Amino acid sequence: MTNLAPRPLLSRVFERALDLVFPPRCASCDAFGAFLCYRCISGAIRAGSPRCPRCWMPEEREVECWRCRARRPAFSSVRSVFVYDGATREAVHAIKFRGISALAPVMGGLMAEQLRWWGPAVDAIVPVPLSGHRRRTRGYNQSELLAREVAQLTGVSLESRALVRRRATAPQARQPGEQARHRNVAGAFRAGPRLPTGGILLIDDVVTTGATLDACARVLLKEGAGPVFALTFARED
Ligand SMILES: [Zn+2]
Ligand SMILES: [Zn+2]
Repeated sequence: MTNLAPRPLLSRVFERALDLVFPPRCASCDAFGAFLCYRCISGAIRAGSPRCPRCWMPEEREVECWRCRARRPAFSSVRSVFVYDGATREAVHAIKFRGISALAPVMGGLMAEQLRWWGPAVDAIVPVPLSGHRRRTRGYNQSELLAREVAQLTGVSLESRALVRRRATAPQARQPGEQARHRNVAGAFRAGPRLPTGGILLIDDVVTTGATLDACARVLLKEGAGPVFALTFARED
Protein backbone atom coordinates (compact mmCIF):
# COMPACT_ATOMS: atom_id res chain seq x y z
CA MET A 1 0.00 0.00 0.00
CA THR A 2 2.87 2.32 -0.68
CA ASN A 3 1.98 5.70 -2.04
CA LEU A 4 5.21 7.31 -3.08
CA ALA A 5 4.34 10.15 -5.39
CA PRO A 6 7.41 11.03 -7.50
CA ARG A 7 8.88 14.33 -6.42
CA PRO A 8 9.03 17.07 -9.03
CA LEU A 9 12.26 17.07 -11.02
CA LEU A 10 13.12 20.60 -9.91
CA SER A 11 13.02 19.74 -6.23
CA ARG A 12 15.26 16.71 -6.87
CA VAL A 13 17.71 18.86 -8.80
CA PHE A 14 17.66 21.40 -6.00
CA GLU A 15 18.29 18.70 -3.37
CA ARG A 16 21.16 17.29 -5.41
CA ALA A 17 22.71 20.78 -5.67
CA LEU A 18 22.33 21.24 -1.92
CA ASP A 19 23.98 17.87 -1.32
CA LEU A 20 27.00 19.07 -3.31
CA VAL A 21 27.31 22.25 -1.26
CA PHE A 22 26.40 20.64 2.10
CA PRO A 23 27.06 16.91 1.75
CA PRO A 24 24.92 14.98 4.24
CA ARG A 25 26.71 13.93 7.42
CA CYS A 26 25.54 11.44 9.99
CA ALA A 27 23.93 13.17 13.02
CA SER A 28 25.65 10.68 15.29
CA CYS A 29 29.10 9.72 13.93
CA ASP A 30 29.69 12.62 11.47
CA ALA A 31 30.43 10.23 8.56
CA PHE A 32 29.64 11.71 5.15
CA GLY A 33 26.93 10.22 2.95
CA ALA A 34 23.69 10.16 5.00
CA PHE A 35 21.98 12.13 7.75
CA LEU A 36 21.87 8.95 9.83
CA CYS A 37 24.26 6.35 8.50
CA TYR A 38 23.60 2.65 8.03
CA ARG A 39 26.19 1.70 10.63
CA CYS A 40 24.61 3.89 13.31
CA ILE A 41 21.10 2.63 12.46
CA SER A 42 22.15 -1.02 12.57
CA GLY A 43 24.00 -0.45 15.85
CA ALA A 44 21.02 1.23 17.54
CA ILE A 45 19.04 -0.74 20.13
CA ARG A 46 15.58 -1.73 18.91
CA ALA A 47 12.74 -1.25 21.40
CA GLY A 48 11.90 -4.96 21.30
CA SER A 49 9.80 -7.10 23.64
CA PRO A 50 9.17 -8.12 26.38
CA ARG A 51 7.32 -4.89 27.08
CA CYS A 52 3.97 -3.71 28.36
CA PRO A 53 1.71 -4.17 25.31
CA ARG A 54 -0.02 -0.86 26.08
CA CYS A 55 2.69 1.71 26.98
CA TRP A 56 5.70 -0.29 25.65
CA MET A 57 7.74 0.10 28.85
CA PRO A 58 10.20 -2.75 29.38
CA GLU A 59 8.75 -5.55 31.50
CA GLU A 60 9.93 -9.01 32.49
CA ARG A 61 7.03 -10.57 30.62
CA GLU A 62 4.65 -9.38 27.91
CA VAL A 63 1.95 -8.24 30.38
CA GLU A 64 0.31 -4.91 31.12
CA CYS A 65 2.48 -2.95 33.58
CA TRP A 66 1.43 -1.66 36.99
CA ARG A 67 1.37 1.94 35.70
CA CYS A 68 -1.18 1.15 33.01
CA ARG A 69 -3.24 -0.87 35.48
CA ALA A 70 -3.18 1.98 38.04
CA ARG A 71 -3.93 4.74 35.55
CA ARG A 72 -5.28 3.42 32.27
CA PRO A 73 -3.98 5.51 29.34
CA ALA A 74 -6.49 6.76 26.79
CA PHE A 75 -4.44 5.25 23.94
CA SER A 76 -4.80 1.57 23.06
CA SER A 77 -1.10 0.98 22.54
CA VAL A 78 2.22 2.62 21.75
CA ARG A 79 5.12 1.24 19.75
CA SER A 80 8.58 2.72 19.21
CA VAL A 81 11.31 1.79 16.81
CA PHE A 82 14.35 2.32 19.02
CA VAL A 83 15.44 2.80 22.59
CA TYR A 84 16.31 6.48 23.13
CA ASP A 85 20.06 6.18 23.44
CA GLY A 86 23.28 6.84 21.53
CA ALA A 87 22.70 7.44 17.81
CA THR A 88 18.90 7.63 18.12
CA ARG A 89 19.18 10.24 20.87
CA GLU A 90 21.58 12.22 18.69
CA ALA A 91 19.18 12.01 15.76
CA VAL A 92 16.28 13.31 17.86
CA HIS A 93 18.44 16.14 19.22
CA ALA A 94 19.59 17.04 15.72
CA ILE A 95 16.09 17.27 14.23
CA LYS A 96 14.73 19.05 17.30
CA PHE A 97 17.45 21.44 18.35
CA ARG A 98 19.95 21.68 15.48
CA GLY A 99 17.46 22.33 12.69
CA ILE A 100 18.41 19.21 10.71
CA SER A 101 14.96 18.61 9.26
CA ALA A 102 16.58 16.52 6.49
CA LEU A 103 16.64 13.67 9.03
CA ALA A 104 12.86 13.26 8.68
CA PRO A 105 12.92 10.89 5.66
CA VAL A 106 15.29 8.39 7.26
CA MET A 107 13.61 8.55 10.69
CA GLY A 108 10.11 8.46 9.20
CA GLY A 109 11.12 5.61 6.89
CA LEU A 110 12.15 3.48 9.87
CA MET A 111 8.86 4.34 11.58
CA ALA A 112 6.84 3.38 8.49
CA GLU A 113 8.63 0.01 8.44
CA GLN A 114 7.66 -0.52 12.07
CA LEU A 115 4.06 0.45 11.34
CA ARG A 116 3.79 -2.12 8.54
CA TRP A 117 5.14 -4.82 10.82
CA TRP A 118 2.84 -3.76 13.69
CA GLY A 119 -0.29 -3.21 11.59
CA PRO A 120 -2.88 -1.44 13.79
CA ALA A 121 -6.13 -0.50 11.99
CA VAL A 122 -5.73 3.24 11.46
CA ASP A 123 -7.58 5.65 9.19
CA ALA A 124 -5.55 8.80 9.86
CA ILE A 125 -2.14 9.89 11.08
CA VAL A 126 -2.01 12.79 13.54
CA PRO A 127 1.23 14.44 14.75
CA VAL A 128 1.55 15.68 18.33
CA PRO A 129 1.34 19.47 17.88
CA LEU A 130 3.90 22.01 19.09
CA SER A 131 2.94 25.33 20.57
CA GLY A 132 2.78 28.16 18.03
CA HIS A 133 5.76 29.88 19.62
CA ARG A 134 8.00 26.81 19.60
CA ARG A 135 6.99 26.00 16.06
CA ARG A 136 7.88 29.51 14.90
CA THR A 137 11.30 29.52 16.56
CA ARG A 138 12.12 25.99 15.29
CA GLY A 139 10.60 26.63 11.86
CA TYR A 140 8.81 23.28 11.85
CA ASN A 141 7.25 20.65 14.06
CA GLN A 142 9.51 17.58 13.91
CA SER A 143 6.59 15.26 14.75
CA GLU A 144 4.69 16.65 11.78
CA LEU A 145 7.66 16.03 9.47
CA LEU A 146 7.87 12.43 10.72
CA ALA A 147 4.10 11.99 10.37
CA ARG A 148 4.24 13.26 6.79
CA GLU A 149 6.89 10.68 5.89
CA VAL A 150 4.98 7.83 7.53
CA ALA A 151 1.76 8.90 5.79
CA GLN A 152 3.45 9.10 2.39
CA LEU A 153 5.12 5.72 2.73
CA THR A 154 2.06 3.85 4.00
CA GLY A 155 -0.75 5.62 2.13
CA VAL A 156 -2.62 6.48 5.36
CA SER A 157 -4.01 10.01 5.25
CA LEU A 158 -2.25 12.73 7.22
CA GLU A 159 -4.33 15.02 9.43
CA SER A 160 -1.99 17.69 10.79
CA ARG A 161 -4.80 19.92 12.01
CA ALA A 162 -6.65 17.42 14.19
CA LEU A 163 -5.09 18.70 17.40
CA VAL A 164 -3.99 22.12 18.60
CA ARG A 165 -1.69 22.86 21.51
CA ARG A 166 -3.53 25.51 23.52
CA ARG A 167 -0.51 26.57 25.53
CA ALA A 168 3.23 25.99 25.59
CA THR A 169 4.25 23.46 28.23
CA ALA A 170 7.60 23.09 29.96
CA PRO A 171 9.67 20.30 28.38
CA GLN A 172 8.48 16.89 29.66
CA ALA A 173 12.10 15.84 30.10
CA ARG A 174 12.43 18.42 32.90
CA GLN A 175 9.46 17.13 34.89
CA PRO A 176 10.54 15.24 38.01
CA GLY A 177 8.13 12.30 37.83
CA GLU A 178 5.15 10.71 36.17
CA GLN A 179 2.56 12.74 38.11
CA ALA A 180 4.36 15.98 37.23
CA ARG A 181 4.39 14.98 33.57
CA HIS A 182 0.65 14.32 33.56
CA ARG A 183 0.03 17.66 35.33
CA ASN A 184 2.29 19.48 32.89
CA VAL A 185 0.26 18.44 29.81
CA ALA A 186 -3.23 18.27 31.40
CA GLY A 187 -5.53 20.39 29.27
CA ALA A 188 -2.67 21.40 26.96
CA PHE A 189 -4.41 20.13 23.81
CA ARG A 190 -7.76 20.71 22.19
CA ALA A 191 -9.48 19.52 19.04
CA GLY A 192 -8.37 21.33 15.91
CA PRO A 193 -10.39 22.39 12.87
CA ARG A 194 -10.08 19.06 11.04
CA LEU A 195 -10.93 16.11 13.21
CA PRO A 196 -10.74 12.68 11.57
CA THR A 197 -12.89 9.73 12.60
CA GLY A 198 -11.97 6.09 13.05
CA GLY A 199 -8.63 4.66 14.12
CA ILE A 200 -5.93 7.26 14.72
CA LEU A 201 -2.17 6.92 14.79
CA LEU A 202 -0.48 9.62 16.86
CA ILE A 203 3.12 10.37 15.88
CA ASP A 204 5.80 11.82 18.13
CA ASP A 205 9.60 11.73 18.20
CA VAL A 206 10.08 10.30 21.70
CA VAL A 207 7.84 8.76 24.37
CA THR A 208 8.79 8.54 28.05
CA THR A 209 5.84 8.03 30.42
CA GLY A 210 3.28 8.48 27.65
CA ALA A 211 1.66 11.47 29.42
CA THR A 212 1.69 13.65 26.27
CA LEU A 213 0.27 10.87 24.08
CA ASP A 214 -2.35 10.18 26.74
CA ALA A 215 -3.42 13.85 26.83
CA CYS A 216 -3.71 13.88 23.01
CA ALA A 217 -5.60 10.58 22.90
CA ARG A 218 -8.06 11.84 25.53
CA VAL A 219 -9.04 14.78 23.30
CA LEU A 220 -9.43 12.58 20.22
CA LEU A 221 -11.59 10.02 22.05
CA LYS A 222 -13.74 12.75 23.58
CA GLU A 223 -14.38 14.12 20.10
CA GLY A 224 -15.56 10.70 18.92
CA ALA A 225 -12.44 9.45 17.12
CA GLY A 226 -10.60 6.30 18.08
CA PRO A 227 -9.25 3.86 18.95
CA VAL A 228 -5.98 5.79 19.27
CA PHE A 229 -2.60 4.17 18.71
CA ALA A 230 0.78 5.90 18.86
CA LEU A 231 4.11 5.40 17.16
CA THR A 232 7.33 7.14 18.12
CA PHE A 233 10.83 7.03 16.75
CA ALA A 234 12.32 6.33 20.18
CA ARG A 235 11.27 5.19 23.64
CA GLU A 236 13.03 6.41 26.76
CA ASP A 237 13.24 3.35 29.01
ZN1 LIG B 1 26.71 7.31 11.75
ZN1 LIG C 1 2.16 -0.05 30.58
